[in-house]
Amino acid sequence: MKTVSSVCTYCGTGCDILADIEDNTIQKIYAKKDGEVSEGKLCIKGKEGYEYLYSSNRIKNPRVKKSFIEKNRASFPKEIQDKLFLLHSYDNDFYECDLDIAIKLAGWKIKEILGKYGSHKTCCIGGARTSNENAYFFNKFAREYLETPHIDCCARICHAPSLAGLKRTVGEGAATNPFESIYKTDFILIIGSNTTEAHPIVASKISRAIKKGAKLAVVDVRETAIMKQADYKLVIPYETNLLTVNKMAQYILENNLQDDEFIKNRCEGFDEYKKELLAEELQSFANLEGYEDLEETVKEVAKIYAQSNSMILWGLGVSEHIDGSDTVSAFSNLALLTGNVGKEEAGLMPLRGQNNVQGACDMGCLPYYDLGYSQPKEEGLKTPDLIDEMIEGNIKFLYNMGEDIAHVHPNLNKVHKAFEKLEFIVVNELFPNEITKFADIVFGVKSQYEKQGVYTNAERRIKLTNPLYENSIPDDWEIFLQIARELGKEGNYVSSEDIWKEVQTKKPERYGGASYERLKQRDDKGMQWPIPDDDTPHLHLTKFSTENGLGKFLYRRWEKRGHVVSLETKDGQFYLTTGRIIEHYNNAAQTKESEKLWNRHNEDILLVSDLDNFDEEKRYILKSAFGETRPLKIKITNKIKKGTMFTSFHHSKSKVNFLFGDESDSLTKTAKFKSIEVEIISGV
Ligand code: SF4
Repeated sequence: MKTVSSVCTYCGTGCDILADIEDNTIQKIYAKKDGEVSEGKLCIKGKEGYEYLYSSNRIKNPRVKKSFIEKNRASFPKEIQDKLFLLHSYDNDFYECDLDIAIKLAGWKIKEILGKYGSHKTCCIGGARTSNENAYFFNKFAREYLETPHIDCCARICHAPSLAGLKRTVGEGAATNPFESIYKTDFILIIGSNTTEAHPIVASKISRAIKKGAKLAVVDVRETAIMKQADYKLVIPYETNLLTVNKMAQYILENNLQDDEFIKNRCEGFDEYKKELLAEELQSFANLEGYEDLEETVKEVAKIYAQSNSMILWGLGVSEHIDGSDTVSAFSNLALLTGNVGKEEAGLMPLRGQNNVQGACDMGCLPYYDLGYSQPKEEGLKTPDLIDEMIEGNIKFLYNMGEDIAHVHPNLNKVHKAFEKLEFIVVNELFPNEITKFADIVFGVKSQYEKQGVYTNAERRIKLTNPLYENSIPDDWEIFLQIARELGKEGNYVSSEDIWKEVQTKKPERYGGASYERLKQRDDKGMQWPIPDDDTPHLHLTKFSTENGLGKFLYRRWEKRGHVVSLETKDGQFYLTTGRIIEHYNNAAQTKESEKLWNRHNEDILLVSDLDNFDEEKRYILKSAFGETRPLKIKITNKIKKGTMFTSFHHSKSKVNFLFGDESDSLTKTAKFKSIEVEIISGV
C-alpha cells in the first residue's frame, strides 16, 4: 500500500488530500491531518467523489462521429483512406478508434478549415478541471498554433466579473488573502455564496472562526445553511447586491466611519466617489413587503464592517448578474473606504468555483488576457459572442476542452442551434455528455487524479498534484501537441514539467520560484502567487497592484428592476435562482459516477415557498422567454421567500439552463444565472 498526496478535484477550496493506493486501486481518500487547506477535513465530494475513475462509462479511446466520416470520406487523403478500416462501430453515432487515426483526422480537418476560411473562423473554449499546464497549452494551441484570438474558459459563466471588478480597483483579479485570514478577522460578510454546500471546508473554517469570536453577516436571496450561524441574516430581494453594498457605503460616509488615513495614503478617486454616492437617494427596503427589516440591518452591518477588521467573501450569487463586475468593484470601494484590505486580518475573497478556474484565468484562457494577465496580441471574442458568430456562420470550428457548454451555459436552445451550424467540433472529455453529442471527434483524456500537474485554488495557492491512478489515456496537452504537429508546428515537450518550465520562464515575476522541485518540497502548503522567489500569501500590504500602486474608488449606480419592481407593484411574478448542492459539481460529470453521491441526489429539485400555493404531490414545469424545464419535483420550505424559488442544475435532463437568455454582466457577459422571471406550468 502506498499513500499519495494530491488536491481534491472539485471546488476552488482546493483541499489537500491523501490517497491510500493498493494495486493501482484507491482504497480511501482522506484529508491530511494537518493539511493547510483541509485542516484534516474533506466534504463528501472529496471523500467519495473518486469512483468515476473506475466507471465503465469512461471515454478511453477516441470516438469519431459516423456522419463526419460519411460527409468527408471523398476528400480524405490516401494516408487517411488507408486507415479507415481501423474505425470500429461503437454505437449508432460513433466509431471508436486508436489515437493515431483520430489525431490524423482532426489534424486534416482543422488544416482544411484553416486553409478554406482562415484562423479567425476557429475558436477554443475550455473548462478548468484540468491542470495549469493544460490550460497554458490550450492557450498556446489557440493563439500560436491555430493563430486565433478566440479563446475562452468556464470563468465566462462564473467569476469573470470578480476578476474584472477587482482588477480595475485593486489591480489584481484574485483573492487578497489566504483562508487563514478567516481566523484572524473579526467580522465576516458573506454575499451570494451558499458556502456550506458550494465550498464546505471554507464553511467549516468560518464556523471555527465564529467559535473563536468572529461575527458573521450573510446576505442572500434565500435562507442558506450558513445563515443559521449568522449574527446578521439579510435575505434580500433578487438583484439587489449592488444596492445593498452601496447602501452600506453610503451609511459609512454619512456617519463618518471611513478610514481617512487609509484613503489619503493608499487610494485615489475618493472625492468623486463620495460626491456621487452621497448625491443618490438609494432605494429603500422599508416599503418592500417581506423585506422591511433590511433597511435597519444593512446599517448595523455597515457599522460593524467599518469598525472591525473585516473580510468579504462572495460567490456566484454576486457575479452571475447584470451588475456582477460593478458589485465586486463596490466590495473594493467598501474595503478601501474602511482600510479593510492590504492587511493579514482583512480582505476580499471571491470563492472561485472549479478547482483550477483561478489557474485557467492565470494561464491566459481568456479572450482579453494572455498568460499572467498580459495583453494578448489581439483580443478575441467572449463565448456568448462566439455563439452568435457560430449562428451567423462566421465560426466554423470549435475545440472544446472539458466544458459542457451544451449543458451548463445559458440559452441552450440557441447554443445547440449554434453547434449545428459548425463544420467541425473536437472535444476532450472524461465522459459522454451533452457537448460530446455534437462532437465530430471526442478524445478521452486523463482526469486530474491520473496525472501530474499544477493547480491553483481560490486563494492563489498552487500545488503540484501526483497521479493516484495509472492508465494509458493521454493528457490534454499530448493531444494538442500531436494535432499541432499535424498542422506542421514544432514543439518539444515530453512532460507536463516541460510546459510548466515554459510558464515559469515566460512569467518569472509570478512563477519563477515555483519549480516542480520546489513545489514538491512545499507539498505541505503549496505556494501562493506571485512567487518571484518566495510566495505571497497576502496581496497589497504596502501598495495595490494598480499601475500607480493606489486603490481606485469607482462608483456604479444600482438600476431598479425585476423583483424590486414586482414587490412594489405586487404583480405576483415568480423569480428563480439556481445553484449547487453539496453532492454534485457543475454538470455532475464525475460525481454522478459515484454510487454514494448519486444515491443521495439524482435529480434537480425545485425549492418553493410555503407561502405560495404548491402541491408536493405534483411536478412543475418552469417557463421563461427562452425555454422551459422538464417537469421538476418540488419541495416546500420556509427558507424561501414568497414568490421566489431555487433549483440546482446538475442534471441535464432537467433542462434548467434552457430558461436563461442572453442577459449578462455588462462588462464580462457572464450570464445572469441568479435571477430569472418564470412562469409556472403546474400539476404535471
Ligand atoms: Fe473538495 Fe471542495 Fe469538498 Fe474540499 S470543500 S473536499 S475541495 S469539494
